[in-house]
Amino acid sequence: MNEAFYQPLRDVDPDVYQAIQNEIRRQSGGLEMIASENFASEAVLEAMGSVFTNKYAEGYPGRRYYGGCEYVDVVESLAIERARQLFGAEHVNVQPYSGSQANMAVYIAMLQPGDTIMGMNLSHGGHLTHGHPLNFSGKYFNVVAYGVDRETETIDYHQMAELAHQHKPKMIVCGASAYPRIIDFDRIAEIAHEVGAVVMADIAHIAGLVAAGLHPSPIPSCEFVTTTTHKTLRGPRAGMIMCKQEFAREIDRAVFPCVQGGPHVHIMAAKAVCFKEAMRPEFKEYQAQIVKNAKVLAEELARAGFRIVSGGTDNHLLLVDVYAKGITGKEAEKALDAAGITVNKNTIPFDTNPPLVASGIRIGTPALTTRGMKEPEMRLIAGMIAEVLDQIGSEEVQKSVRQRVEELSARFPLYGHRLGAPATS
Ligand SMILES: *Cc1c(COP(=O)(O)O)cnc(C)c1O
Repeated sequence: MNEAFYQPLRDVDPDVYQAIQNEIRRQSGGLEMIASENFASEAVLEAMGSVFTNKYAEGYPGRRYYGGCEYVDVVESLAIERARQLFGAEHVNVQPYSGSQANMAVYIAMLQPGDTIMGMNLSHGGHLTHGHPLNFSGKYFNVVAYGVDRETETIDYHQMAELAHQHKPKMIVCGASAYPRIIDFDRIAEIAHEVGAVVMADIAHIAGLVAAGLHPSPIPSCEFVTTTTHKTLRGPRAGMIMCKQEFAREIDRAVFPCVQGGPHVHIMAAKAVCFKEAMRPEFKEYQAQIVKNAKVLAEELARAGFRIVSGGTDNHLLLVDVYAKGITGKEAEKALDAAGITVNKNTIPFDTNPPLVASGIRIGTPALTTRGMKEPEMRLIAGMIAEVLDQIGSEEVQKSVRQRVEELSARFPLYGHRLGAPATS
């Protein structure tokens, strides 16, 4: 074997090594408030970095197209069994590479090109894969979009029902990327079933809350439930499909061989670890704290004079209408970034600004809650956000906040030395 094979990354590729060190420092030194992000545990990272990345395992446990799959079968079966327990699902496929692939597989299993589906308007909180014209979902299917009510800024179920009766979709897709309220999955399923449609509930964002019983589960009423595993669920970057037993075969065949080739076994191993972590009582407490933190943040920002879309939050995220204060989402994102607070600009319902400018910012609490931050820290952070946004042009304010962000971050260390994190003192 070539000697370089045994050398540490630091020696083999100092450029990549340094970028990783810098990213560790960036993640631990700032306030990560992008609602779709989180910090996977060291155990999850260890499984992701394991030798399972070397293995081809096309097929499913017990019926593979390659030899040497006995330990792959162990981890994939563990992941499936734990996910079934965690969510109470009848059938689980843990092979999707990402949330997008999971959604694609469900569409392919159930639909033909040109079929009509209903999905939530992207600018009202939906996801690209729910029928956006630039996404495969919008290109291959006839998409009817539903959205939120202009007054309440919550899902307009009456409009959804009307559209469903009018357009007779084959599938109603629900679940969102930027929606701060409870989604009534049972009601959506009722509407769908009235017109003979099936439901795909995409819980990519709220999977952790659902697993912890803090958001109503779509599992009993919806035929298909897809998710990512890296958002509130806090696992590896990947996807998963859950469905009723009657669709098991079609779903498995849609994932492989239709949409994907060999499964990422190292990632499936990490999913198994993530689900084990999610079954512990501490995970429930963690999810409950995510929600409490988001509520405090919303209350404090409202107190500081910001308009919170829909008036508050029930989950892990909030949308702030910064344009009501004359600032664009783009400007807000940039100023907060300079102050060490990472959020993303986001359109708000009925936005008058284009998506790359946007009138809002989306703020999430999953990542900071993983670091152990609670209500007192949320109050501090809300104050800092308000300070930066109220003096949007001031580099001095940004610098002063940046200083306080670093002090706050240092009190909540992220990863340990095993990952090469710098000493926190
Ligand atoms: C994040 C997200 C996805 C896609 O996940 P990727 O893993 O980035 O492909 C799908 N649906 C919703 C609602 C999401 O928020």
